[in-house]
Amino acid sequence: MIMRRTITVVLLLVILGGAVSAEELFLEEILSRTGTTLEWDPYRGHGAIVRGSRILSFSLGRELAVENLAMLHRIEPPRRAEGSIVFGPRFATLAMRLFPPPETLRRVGAIFIDPGHGGRDPGAIGRHEFDDELRELREKDLVLDVSLKLYDLLRQRFPEKEVVLSREDDSYLTLEERTDLANDIPMEPNESVLFVSIHANASLNTRARGFEVWVLPPEFRRRDLVSAERTGVSDPDVLSILNTMREEEITLESVLLARNVLAGLESVVGDRSPNRGIREESWYVVRNARMPSVLVEIGFVTNRDEFLLLEKESYLREITRGIYTGVINFVDNFEEVGRD
Ligand SMILES: [Zn+2]
Repeated sequence: MIMRRTITVVLLLVILGGAVSAEELFLEEILSRTGTTLEWDPYRGHGAIVRGSRILSFSLGRELAVENLAMLHRIEPPRRAEGSIVFGPRFATLAMRLFPPPETLRRVGAIFIDPGHGGRDPGAIGRHEFDDELRELREKDLVLDVSLKLYDLLRQRFPEKEVVLSREDDSYLTLEERTDLANDIPMEPNESVLFVSIHANASLNTRARGFEVWVLPPEFRRRDLVSAERTGVSDPDVLSILNTMREEEITLESVLLARNVLAGLESVVGDRSPNRGIREESWYVVRNARMPSVLVEIGFVTNRDEFLLLEKESYLREITRGIYTGVINFVDNFEEVGRD
């Protein structure tokens, strides 16, 4: 009796494709661990798991898997079992390497928008006379206007990210309060905050005009980017090396963000305002933000022609669109690099 039952079970297992060992993984588990989707050709018993531009192909009963349609890997032959497909440890390892779990991917978790000045600090002031009428523009008002518009656009584009304003009205914040607000946004270890400070320019040279973006010069040393608590590393030498690495990464990312913002601005207002390029100086806000950060100067209120542009609501909308385009291009690229 026992013998017959065993035979029945064995027969059943043979029909279903054999027992699944502890080392094997079901297709569903691999898909969920790697965030991939399946493409399946039932006639040829041929399939592929796919995420973004990456693809890992396999065939039932065959000892080969193909990475990105080019590189061959030897695997335990995938087989049918319990109405699904099971894979051996080689394929599972390959899949995990090719498609790292989504929670370990780099992503921008938050975008911090900092309209410069505010309250008792008006920032740059431009005054020009037009037909006996003295008109005035204050930096704090211009940059708040652009920042609020940018906030709305980014909220719509990235509903899953936090978009934060340092101020949303005519209030005064110290530089330290601004960077503290940004540094205190809670982030997962794989997440970054982007810091975008928005200003308008003034110059004694009334012919100076155009937009520019400031970043921290690469030789500047930022402190305490990597903390002992966060990394679990207590050796000060190791922490210092980690800090340097993080610092170089942040500097590079800040330059990339700056380039993207400049390109975005040039595409919308380049026909009317010159691109003054990337500038480097250790601005307080940029220096103390432990994240990719840039300071955007949208134009000169002291230049008569640029004043006329900056006065217009439609021009500020274009400026905003330019910064926005730069930020989203940077974000797409930043997150894609982590993925591929
Ligand atoms: Zn300013």
